[in-house]
Amino acid sequence: MCKKTYWNEEFETLNRCDLEKLQVKRLRKTVGSALDTSFYSKLYEEKGIDVDSIQSVDDIRKLPFTVKQDLRNSYPDGMTSCKKDESIRLHCSSGTTGQPTVVYHNRHDLDSWANLVARSLYCAGARPGDVFQNICGYGLFTGGLGFQYGAETLGALAIPAGAGNSKRQIKLIQDFGTTVIHAIPSYLIRLHEIFLAEGIDPLKGTNLRLFVIGAEPHTEEQRKKIETLFGIKAYNSYGLTEMNGPGVAFECEEQDGLHVWEDAYLVEIVNPDTLEPVEDGEIGELVLTTLDREVMPLIRYRTRDLTRVLPGECACGRTHRRLDRITGRSDDMFIIKGCNVFPMQIESVLMKMPEVGTNYLIELVTENGVDEMYVNVELQAQCFSDSYQDLEKIQNSLVSKIRDEVLAKPKIVLLEPGELPQQEGKAIRVVDARDS
Ligand code: ADP
Ligand code: ZN
Repeated sequence: MCKKTYWNEEFETLNRCDLEKLQVKRLRKTVGSALDTSFYSKLYEEKGIDVDSIQSVDDIRKLPFTVKQDLRNSYPDGMTSCKKDESIRLHCSSGTTGQPTVVYHNRHDLDSWANLVARSLYCAGARPGDVFQNICGYGLFTGGLGFQYGAETLGALAIPAGAGNSKRQIKLIQDFGTTVIHAIPSYLIRLHEIFLAEGIDPLKGTNLRLFVIGAEPHTEEQRKKIETLFGIKAYNSYGLTEMNGPGVAFECEEQDGLHVWEDAYLVEIVNPDTLEPVEDGEIGELVLTTLDREVMPLIRYRTRDLTRVLPGECACGRTHRRLDRITGRSDDMFIIKGCNVFPMQIESVLMKMPEVGTNYLIELVTENGVDEMYVNVELQAQCFSDSYQDLEKIQNSLVSKIRDEVLAKPKIVLLEPGELPQQEGKAIRVVDARDS
């Protein structure tokens, strides 16, 4: 077992002053590459911005924000620099919310990304020699190849298992002695059901010791549920295609926020309405700038993800700041009966109830001209046995707890395990079928 404390000690423990100097140097280089792209050259020339506009990290505020629509408008390659010809791979976002966006990478970009993912895995406790099973879609989605090359760079045996086919996943876990799994959280809960159905104890019947979960919003309660079900720790992994994919921010063994790798990404948290920086520690929209990417520099990119920078230093000794768990995307929020609701608020209530099973779906509908919020929730199988008396109690308790949390009164539909449709990729939590 590799004994060193950090994967890239030099970078991970850089003092803040030196880290900032490195950021300025890299930001200047990034602006230089951006001026090579048709998109930024036009934008920056209009505003009189050049490399010398950047003398400090704060000078980033002179530069305009970018949004997903800019990437779409520049499709397929309007945001690539003159290094586009060196590109050896491209990825697209999964298109959860609309048209996909494309990111090109050259050898430098891919090596830098793989190193960040290796660093992230190491930070969560994976080590060379681990058997790493990557249970997520390969192809254009970044979670597949991103973790594959990251785990290989780490020196783990990386199994490109792909998504779905749970019985086969369990066979791979058993046959190859898998120790670490990366998967989306909603899938791990499903995998546990299959373990049970197969009569295998995931803790005693396998070598599993660590999970990496991410790619979709989830609550602390859902993480706890996974950890309790399997008896294995699960670490949060955050990334997005526009910023390479996985390896942007990752939990360390303290499990107290996600270190965002500030030698590769410049972090801002802004008020999504005013676009002004929020006060330290306040929740806002995460805005990221690539600092180590050549083909597609992306500057002040509005991720739409809501989070905050956690105050204080981490006990692990890494100096890179920590982001709080993402509470949702700014465009995830829906308004029902005049109340602003994030799906994660509802998940957090559901996952605290021991009777609740693994899957839920929020449906917004119009009934007799009135908007209603249905929360369809699967319960544990034992709640449907003949001797069970408490269904009505659960129903009432969910109505009042959800109303207390989001202020709007829901209608609750209690379902048996497996009644809701299973999704292969990221879980869909809300279906909005209202009239307008
Ligand atoms: P798409 O935007 O089409 O879903 P991506 O695969 O690039 O494509 O998804 C990135 C998004 O996934 C992030 O912007 C964020 O909203 C979500 N996400 C990724 N990791 C996490 C995480 N650990 N917690 C919450 N949300 C996450
Ligand atoms: Zn830490």
